[in-house]
Amino acid sequence: MGIDLARESKVRRVILSGEPAGSIPAVKRQLEEAWNAKVGDSAGMTEIGSIMMFECRHQPGGAHIIEDHFIEECLEHDGDRQVPYGHEAERVVTSFGRGFIPLVRYRTKDLVVKVPYTTCPCGRTFDIYDGGIRGRWDDMKLVRGTNVYPRAVEAIVREFDAIDEFQIVLERVGLVDEITVHVELKPGFESDWDALRERLSGALRDAHEGLRFTVGRAPAGSLPRFELKAKRFADKRPKAEFKH
Ligand SMILES: [Zn+2]
Repeated sequence: MGIDLARESKVRRVILSGEPAGSIPAVKRQLEEAWNAKVGDSAGMTEIGSIMMFECRHQPGGAHIIEDHFIEECLEHDGDRQVPYGHEAERVVTSFGRGFIPLVRYRTKDLVVKVPYTTCPCGRTFDIYDGGIRGRWDDMKLVRGTNVYPRAVEAIVREFDAIDEFQIVLERVGLVDEITVHVELKPGFESDWDALRERLSGALRDAHEGLRFTVGRAPAGSLPRFELKAKRFADKRPKAEFKH
């Protein structure tokens, strides 16, 4: 519509919720530039009735947990053992605020990494989920023996300002799983395509133990657009069949 949001809008704060995007540095940078505003992440759950974490103005690379309303435990995904600071864990929540539908040690399947509050200079004593909600344990895909998280792929794709929309497709070709990232370029960047493809596939490979990613170009406007929760990961591999 020809509106320059960065110059013409009066928006000074953008609060994101419900997507990993708010804590992906490249996405946050793009949004802050587009709006000329400070972007902060948050997340909540219908089950607990509210948000349970927020990012303070120091933007410590994650969000403070609202610990006077919730006990947020970090447990191993397939068990009950506590996971120490700095390691991937499943978020398990107990809520104080909801008397009618109390939640006690509710397993959220959210993938988080908790770090101590001292990693933020703001002075709050609420611990932090570094990187916000990093994804869901059931989002993880095993591709030729390597773990692939959609959020990790998005974090790399969004480092490239020339990319508009993208989609990750996982397919079985013969007996082998192949992963392709389809990207749409922003107008004006078409001549950069060969170099971009090279750099993006290299960055994806380096971040995934050498796993080969194909990077394909999609025509402008051809990939799905989303309102609310985006689903940019399509697993088209055949489901396992069980014979009786
Ligand atoms: Zn803080």
